[in-house]
Amino acid sequence: MTRELTCIICPKGCRLCVEGGDNRLTVRGNACPRGEQYAIAECTNPMRTVTAVLRVSNRYDTMVCVKTESPVPKAAMFAVMERLHQTTVTAPVSIGDIVMDDLFGSRIVVTKGAI
Ligand code: SF4
Repeated sequence: MTRELTCIICPKGCRLCVEGGDNRLTVRGNACPRGEQYAIAECTNPMRTVTAVLRVSNRYDTMVCVKTESPVPKAAMFAVMERLHQTTVTAPVSIGDIVMDDLFGSRIVVTKGAI
């Protein structure tokens, strides 16, 4: 397997080349060790932070911004979005409030609240 990636860990954006099989991957093009870690994780167990907006049950014209507190499996992103789409919160809600304790291993935290 050969796969080319752009490292998204820092703004330098190194072009990475990952070669090898499931048990042994080699990474070229990384300017620092974080790029190698990113490339191997991306090829073996990709994770993503998901952001979304939630409806506010007592404010028809307001939405609350949320995100996963930690990355969730990339394969679960659409399931996370579907679950968040079905979720409503009740104002007042503040930045940092936890609206869900465990969604694919992550808490859901408010990033923009509603009074
Ligand atoms: S490999 Fe290191 S220097 Fe290059 S983009 Fe990734 S984090 Fe930045």
